Parts: sequence; structure tokens; C-alpha cells
Amino acid sequence: MAELRYDVAVIGAGPGGYAAAFQAADLGLRTALIDEDSQLGGTCLLRGCIPSKALLHATRLLTDAEEAAVWGIHFGKPRVDLEAFRDRVSAIIGKLTNGVRTLAGSRKVEVIQARAWFKDATTLQLSGANTPSELSFGHAIIATGSTPVIPDSLRLRDPRVMDSTGALRLPDIPPRLLVVGGGYIGLELGTVYQALGSEVTVVEALPRLLNNVDADLLRPLHQRLLRQFKAITLNTTVAKLDAQEDGLVATLTASPKTSTETFDRVLVAVGRRPSTNQLGLEHTAITLTPRGFIQVDRQMRTTEPTIFAIGDVVGEPMLAHKATHEGLVAARVIAGKQTAFDAAAIPAVVFTDPEIAWCGLTEDAARVSGQAVKVVRFPWAASGRATTLGRTEGVTKLILDPESGRVLGMGLCGIGAGELIAEGVLAVEMGAVAEDLATSIHPHPTVSETVMEAAESFYGSPTHLFIPKRS
Ligand code: FAD
Ligand code: NAD
Repeated sequence: MAELRYDVAVIGAGPGGYAAAFQAADLGLRTALIDEDSQLGGTCLLRGCIPSKALLHATRLLTDAEEAAVWGIHFGKPRVDLEAFRDRVSAIIGKLTNGVRTLAGSRKVEVIQARAWFKDATTLQLSGANTPSELSFGHAIIATGSTPVIPDSLRLRDPRVMDSTGALRLPDIPPRLLVVGGGYIGLELGTVYQALGSEVTVVEALPRLLNNVDADLLRPLHQRLLRQFKAITLNTTVAKLDAQEDGLVATLTASPKTSTETFDRVLVAVGRRPSTNQLGLEHTAITLTPRGFIQVDRQMRTTEPTIFAIGDVVGEPMLAHKATHEGLVAARVIAGKQTAFDAAAIPAVVFTDPEIAWCGLTEDAARVSGQAVKVVRFPWAASGRATTLGRTEGVTKLILDPESGRVLGMGLCGIGAGELIAEGVLAVEMGAVAEDLATSIHPHPTVSETVMEAAESFYGSPTHLFIPKRS
């Protein structure tokens, strides 16, 4: 067998790993991309971002059809063929994962299907059918991602208890669904199941949903979800689940009160943990942070000089685009480029309806750190486009430096917020000031105008809002 020595060995073919491998190959390095899964794309493509957004898109059609009644347009009761639904999602995943494999082949990245772990700081052991048992590398990049957390108290050997992967398979439409955790996954997948016909109850341990989202951005979503979901129960934990024949009995604790309720299925969405187990890290000088992530510096170097790490396995935010960016940085550093991860704004989008999106400094974070900021808002009730869409509940806000007007952060709640936030990212990264946004002509009628008008508010004169002058 030919000697298996690579300049770069990437472990994990998610959005971090495959981006790193492609970049390394483009920079002339002999690169291997190793994943135990037969399909490339990692959590994001196979059981995360892509299937969840496909489901959200399809189920949005159901809600839109229902809400078309305000236009005098009435559809009959929809009939959902779950098998066709699942086939469509699989086809989308299949197309994208094949695309990743084709791109790997075009770049001459060696794809190896195997589980990998470190024998030492320059050797990986592999276990997989038709793979060699070892390969050596000049540098390795760990991109092993994360897996769902299921607390012991909720871990039942019962298929009715699902993590996100199980819920994305859409086994059926449970009449009564309990969602444990009011974070990204709970709200996105809760939205999917509600639209399909489930009665959804969300139980969140903290006093509010989506804990790190500014309260004014959360409000429009929370209000809509209150109308759609059966219940949103805050300050409450699910202490225990009991499997009974007629359902799963959940014990809900809101100290000092305890109650029980029965559900047909339970989705546990209480966070994810980094995949560092059985990686042989003990055979390297890699250290973990107190929360169990792999410790890296701004160049994505671990404490073992030959090994880099990127993506979910190195910490929050656990987002695909952060993983990709870190992957590009790691590959470029290995190729000898002077670069580092120094993003001023990592955007976040919750793909609910309405969507919430933010980037850069948030109002809450500014308050906690005591940083002086000027916050300007533009309510979508004053947007012509939002009115035509019948979705005026949204809000756009900018977090600005009070002296210079420099854009430090942006937040949105409203339909299409996930697309609009890119303007905020660019503004923060380019060091734009409010005037740059206010004087850039935005197309009419679009909700992007709310960004321009929020910026105009900094100067006290948005066209579609009257702000009385202080005498
Ligand atoms: P992953 O994508 O987790 O990939 C890791 C890969 O490593 C896997 O393929 C795994 O098989 C492989 N692996 C692990 N250990 C080994 C080993 N020892 N040997 C070989 N292979 C190994 N993020 C967003 O930005 N937007 C979204 O809309 C979004 N939606 C999401 C929806 C859901 C339901 C979930 C669960 C997550 C979502 N995320 C979203 C988060 C996103 O999926 C992750 O942040 C992203 O996948 C992390 O990428 P990664 O490359 O670090 O690792
Ligand atoms: P999360 O951290 O977003 O939310 C988990 C929620 O569960 C928190 O609000 C937490 O307070 C609550 N919780 C914890 N234990 C609880 C208990 N016992 N009872 C009730 N509530 C409890 O985690 P997630 O929703 O599992 O998502 C994991 C990660 O995946 C996200 O943090 C995000 O990084 C990523 N993700 C991103 C997207 C996106 O970008 N649109 C979508 C899905 C997932």
C-alpha cells in the first residue's frame, strides 16, 4: 500500500472540516478528509441546518395558506403525505452531499470513511471498512463537531423521546408534543411540528426563550408563538419522564410546584456538547477548556503544535458559518499565511416565523459590560413592504457608538431577517457609521429600508416615523 502521509488530515467533514480541507488543497497541500459517516456534510448538512430549514420552508407553506384567508383566499384543509415530505428532504440532502463529494474529488482531496483517533501528535489510527489502519500527517485539523445533550433524567430507551436528529426524521405527527428547551432547536422544530398539526408545549428552564436574544427582538416572536403553541412554560424544568403505554408522563418542576402532564412525543433540545470523546486526545498535548471544548488560540492552534481545531468542538457559538470561517483560517495558517480569526461580527439567525437575527454587539451585552451605546429602532409597522406582506410585527435596530455613530451591532425580528442581517455584518466589519447606512439608497418597497430608516433615526429624521424634537 502506498505510504499514507498527508500534509493535512482533517477529521470531520462538516461545514468546518470540508471547508478547511478544500482550502488546504487549494493552497497546494496534500489533504485527507476523514469522516465516519458515509455522507459528507456533517451535522449541518445531514441532520441540522439543511433538513431543519427545508422542513421550515415546507411547513411555512401551510401557515401561509392558512393566513391567506385575510386576502379572501381560502384553501381546503391540507393533506400532508409524510413519506413524500421525508423523500423531498432526503433528496435535498442527497443533492448537497453529492455536491460536497464532487468538489472534494475535483480538488483531489482524499476522502476516507473511517473513525479516527490520535495515536500520537503525527499519527492517526483509523477504523473503517476498506481503510488503512493508520495515516501520518504534517498537521491535523480536528473538526469533529458536537452531539445533542440528553440529561440522564430524560434518557429513556423509548423511541418517543427524540433528540433533534430523531425529530428531523418526522416519524409521525404527534398530537401532543413536549419540547424541552426554548432555544434554537426547540423553537425551530416546535414551529415545524405545530404547523403540521401537533399541539406543542415548550418548557424552558430560564425566565425567557432564546436567552441571549435582546428582549425587544424576542417579543414579536414570543407573541406569535403564544398564539400558535399550546403553551410556553418558562422558569420550569422537566425533571423526569416516565414511559406509559398511552404517553410519556413529564414531571414539570417550577420550584416549589411540581405537576405532571402526558405527551405523545418529547423533543429534548437542551444544548449540544463537543465531540472530544474517543479521539485519543490523551496521546497528544491538547488541553480542554473547563467546559470541555478544545482550547485554541486565534489561529485555531491547539496546545499541540501539529494539531489545529475548529468549529463546534472549540466552542460557542456553535454555528456552521463560524465553523467554516475557522476552517479557512486553520488551513491558511498551516499553509504559512499570516492570518487569524478576528471577526468583529458573527451573525446568528433563528429561523422561526418571524425570524430573529443579530450580529456584533447586542443591547444586553452593552448593558452588562457598561459600554455606552445609542440604540435606534425602526418598527416594521411603519414599513410599506411589511404592510403589503401583512407582517408588521417586526423591528429593526442598530446599536451605535453614541459619539461617532459607528455601527457596533444590528438586530432584527421579522420575516426574512436572516437575509437582511448580512448588511449589518458588512457594516460592523467595514466600520460603517449610521450615515453610511442612512445615505445608501435602499430599494423600495423592501424591508431592507428599515435598516436605512433606523440609521436615519440616529439623526432624528426617518422619513416614515415622526420623532418629536426635544426643546
Ligand atoms: P459537524 O457539522 O458536527 O461535523 C462533524 C463531523 O465529524 C461529523 O460528520 C462526524 O461524523 C465527524 N466525526 C466526529 N468524530 C469523528 C471521528 N472520531 N472520526 C471521524 N469522523 C468524526 N448552524 C447554523 O449556522 N445555522 C443553522 O440553521 C443551524 N441549524 C441547526 C439545526 C439543527 C437541528 C442542529 C442540530 C444544528 C444546527 N446548526 C445550525 C449548527 C450546525 O449544524 C453546527 O454548528 C455545525 O454543523 C458545526 O460544524 P462542524 O464542522 O464543527 O461539525
Ligand atoms: P440552545 O442552547 O439554543 O437552547 C437550549 C435551551 O434549553 C436553553 O434555553 C436552556 O435554558 C434550556 N434548558 C436546558 N436544560 C433544560 C431543562 N432541563 N428543562 C428546560 N429547559 C432547559 O440549544 P439547542 O436548541 O439544543 O441548540 C443547540 C445549538 O445548535 C444552538 O446553541 C446553536 O448553536 C445550534 N443551532 C443553531 C441553529 C441556527 O443557527 N438557526 C438552529 C439549531 C441549532
